[in-house]
Amino acid sequence: MDYVERVLETLKAKNPNEPEFHQAATEILNGLRPVVGRHPEYEKTALLERFVEPERIIMFRVPWVDDGGNVRVNKGYRVQFNSAIGPYKGGLRFHPSVNLSIMKFLGLEQILKNSLTGLPIGGGKGGSDFDPKGKSDMEVMRFCQSFMTELFRHIGQDTDVPAGDIGVGGREIGYLFGQYKRLRGEHVGVLTGRGLSYGGSLARTEATGYGLVYMMEEALKCRGDGFKGKTVIVSGSGNVAIYAVQKAQSLGANVVAMYDSNGYIYDKNGIDLAVVKQIKEVERGRIKLYAERVKGAEYHEGCKGIWNIPCDIALPCATQNEIDEESAKALVRGGVKYVGEGANMPTTLGGISVFQNANVVFLPAKAANAGGVATSALEMAQSSGRSYWSFEEVDAKLKTIMVNIYHNIDRAAAEYGAAGDYVAGANIAGFLKVADAMTAQGIV
Ligand code: NDP
Repeated sequence: MDYVERVLETLKAKNPNEPEFHQAATEILNGLRPVVGRHPEYEKTALLERFVEPERIIMFRVPWVDDGGNVRVNKGYRVQFNSAIGPYKGGLRFHPSVNLSIMKFLGLEQILKNSLTGLPIGGGKGGSDFDPKGKSDMEVMRFCQSFMTELFRHIGQDTDVPAGDIGVGGREIGYLFGQYKRLRGEHVGVLTGRGLSYGGSLARTEATGYGLVYMMEEALKCRGDGFKGKTVIVSGSGNVAIYAVQKAQSLGANVVAMYDSNGYIYDKNGIDLAVVKQIKEVERGRIKLYAERVKGAEYHEGCKGIWNIPCDIALPCATQNEIDEESAKALVRGGVKYVGEGANMPTTLGGISVFQNANVVFLPAKAANAGGVATSALEMAQSSGRSYWSFEEVDAKLKTIMVNIYHNIDRAAAEYGAAGDYVAGANIAGFLKVADAMTAQGIV
């Protein structure tokens, strides 16, 4: 058994019943084998063992009262995973599926993603099994206030700066920030994704989706190709999905399908994004309504069928493990040539192998969706400097960051004998900086 295998075996034994955490750690550590081979000192200083163990996990009770006067209790989490290169940074997810395994997989991925941005941010993640869907604004507010009443003592603009993720958008960030300010008496950049009227950054809302498309555009460009005329499938219909569609369409792509957790829409004429935005951002309704409003569009119950639609480019932007081996095979049969992960870990390990064996250009989440956190770091810089940058300025910085990440992971993959394997490239390029910082700071 080599060092990587031993670390993985121990991790699985010490953290049973955490399949998503095992999956993320397996993908990352396997990709790091060539690096570990060149750095025997990592084993002597138990660097990998320290890397996969969160610095701190905070778990807490979140009691709140619903509109009917009933007391509800949810679980709250913050995983402060690694602060070697900067304050912990990573989103909060509110979704009924949230548990410790999901928090830890997201936190581990976040360390490398944040490192890849080139900005000084460490890795963290948090959230709750609270489901904002179907709740009134006042219920969401009471929940957020209760959540922050515990979380506020663990975060700060120089220690840990949470942001949004699934189920946490502008509304939730507003309520969370209001309660933090009330408890601390400080108006500081402790959360990112804030509204523009209270310290937010232009282009943050668009950043993850736009960033994904900027990186894919660069990958296409390097192959003498482009988005123009390409058939694209984007899964999900939340923040990341909507802005990925917007940017891809602006570059001439024909986006034909999207979904929410109930089912998918197929519109061969190209998705009318204004209709999707009205349903999802304004009405907080179901994607099914799209087919009732747009002539010629179809709605199908269930999500999996979306991957049978022939396409050139697939951008999974909903959630973890949405593309399994079978779905990946369906995509390959349908002619997919490029896959870019907007969501975190949307492809299973089996699915990734299918894409790689079929020579599909595969851009993994920790690189491809880093635009969101990168722009959050730009929001932090604006907060510290008490300044505001224009949309164009932030967008231009975002594009430069995404193009740089693409070339960094491309170079790292080639340098370590895995040319074109961006999973390995992203893990290696992200890890080297963190490992260097951890080594410099001693055994901590
Ligand atoms: P949103 O809550 O805005 O949207 C999530 C979308 O995914 C919704 O359409 C939702 O459908 C769908 N979805 C959620 N769970 C499932 C499921 N089990 N099956 C099918 N569809 C599902 O979240 P975001 O757009 O912010 O996040 C999407 C992904 O991108 C996540 O993996 C997140 O971690 C990642 N990400 C987000 C960043 C950001 O800046 N927001 C940054 C980097 C990564 P429904 O409404 O029916 O639940």
